[in-house]
Amino acid sequence: MVPAQEKQQRVYLNGTWVTTGEEIGVVDPSTGQVFAHVAAVKRDHVQAALAGAYDALARWRALTAKERGAALDRVADELLKRADEIARTITLENGKPLAQSRGEVAMSEDHLRWFAAEGRRAYGRLIPHQAQGRRNLVVRTPIGVVGAISPWNFPLVLAVRKVAPALAAGCTVVLKPSSQTPLCAVALAECMEAAGIPPGVFQLVIGSARMIAEEFLNNPICRKITFTGSTEVGRELIRGAAETVKPLSLELGGLAPLLVFEDCDMDRAVEQTLIAKFRNTGQSCIAANRIYVQRSIHREFLARFLAGAQKLRVGPGLEPGVEIGPLISADALKSALDQIEDAAAHGGKVLCGGKRAGSTGYFLEPTVIEGAGESALCMREETFAPVAPISTFETEEEAIERANASEFGLSAYAMTRDVGRIFRLAEQIEAGTLGINDGAPTTSTSPFGGVKQSGWGRELGSEGLDAFLETKHVSIGGV
Ligand code: NAP
Repeated sequence: MVPAQEKQQRVYLNGTWVTTGEEIGVVDPSTGQVFAHVAAVKRDHVQAALAGAYDALARWRALTAKERGAALDRVADELLKRADEIARTITLENGKPLAQSRGEVAMSEDHLRWFAAEGRRAYGRLIPHQAQGRRNLVVRTPIGVVGAISPWNFPLVLAVRKVAPALAAGCTVVLKPSSQTPLCAVALAECMEAAGIPPGVFQLVIGSARMIAEEFLNNPICRKITFTGSTEVGRELIRGAAETVKPLSLELGGLAPLLVFEDCDMDRAVEQTLIAKFRNTGQSCIAANRIYVQRSIHREFLARFLAGAQKLRVGPGLEPGVEIGPLISADALKSALDQIEDAAAHGGKVLCGGKRAGSTGYFLEPTVIEGAGESALCMREETFAPVAPISTFETEEEAIERANASEFGLSAYAMTRDVGRIFRLAEQIEAGTLGINDGAPTTSTSPFGGVKQSGWGRELGSEGLDAFLETKHVSIGGV
């Protein structure tokens, strides 16, 4: 067994572990201290990775979907074998409570198994012919070499959400994880190697995001970029892709509204709202950002939600029973504190929390704010922290209007038992995912993605595979 520290010095290029002469320190957000280092690539490493991915492409795409699926299942097996250790790694570099890291590993395993099977259903079609003697076929082919860029907030599962469908479709992949959380991507590369994924089919580059993205954008070998991260960086990629018309899948920021209606099951509404807001310490792209409660039940909901928030245990993610870990960085903590101050300046009353917790690491007390105006930052900009602003509405029409009054549209939530209302919301809410009485609506089997400035395209479900397939029409004459 190679000592952990030594392993972390390397990146995985063309089937070998490489040191580069440069490194990045990885910080434990519960202490603010660097606890590991990883090798950082230079441009020639990225070029070599793309060239290797291209060399590996022909053989990988020539395998049957069943063979590729079996390989992905072996990666899932490797992940499962190391689930505890990888979950600890996620908690160390990201800060989230260990139970949630375990959940992330389990979901990553499930994504791998879903796409291992889904690859076998990349159907083309035979179209009833239009002219005598002709036949029209539709064939799906892998798009080619893929550059994948993933964020720190779900560092393993959001990388797997790209890599698994790309490999299942017959593409080869170069993954660039966030430099804040590269260690679980190193573990994923180790699982790929142990599972016998051929050299070049999956590679890992860690380092300057701008340089790596530039290479993905401008190198003709890279045929597609799939990105999860902020809308700001998404815009930069769109600008960069204009020159080469490079296809992009973009999973960007959100500002999820959560609507609580007077006909809800109150116990479930409180429980699911706590999950939608505080899971992952509020650092989820689908976190409930703005909570709107129908006026007739506002007092009761608020009292019960507040009691739930005050019970949440804050601490280092490795401590048993912790439900709220640290924020990812000092900047993230400052930005959350700024939003709280701004909410107070916009009429909001801080009912609990509102302050940094402890003096080491980047902990914030779970915070509930009542009545901040719609112009407050927390109602307009992604919060990415355990801060819950709650305000009221009178009618369904008003709730829908306020929910849709944003340039973002990743996810939305509603707590209601009225079937007619559920259909009206499903048709009118502008979001890629709608959780009805469900604070954690993501599953391997269903499409996930955003509308408006929350992104382009879908991951997961059968749509997740489409992102890595070309659709080709073959017209056959003289039949
Ligand atoms: P970010 O700053 O946009 O970073 C995301 C990834 O992009 C990281 O790997 C980062 O690398 C890289 N990056 C940074 N600057 C870049 C550039 N100029 N060109 C190309 N890549 C660049 O976002 P984040 O702070 O990590 O993640 C939080 C954001 O992601 C939130 O807005 C959240 O809503 C969004 N998100 C969306 C989804 C979704 O599915 N829609 C899921 C999760 C998160 P470095 O870390 O090395 O800088």
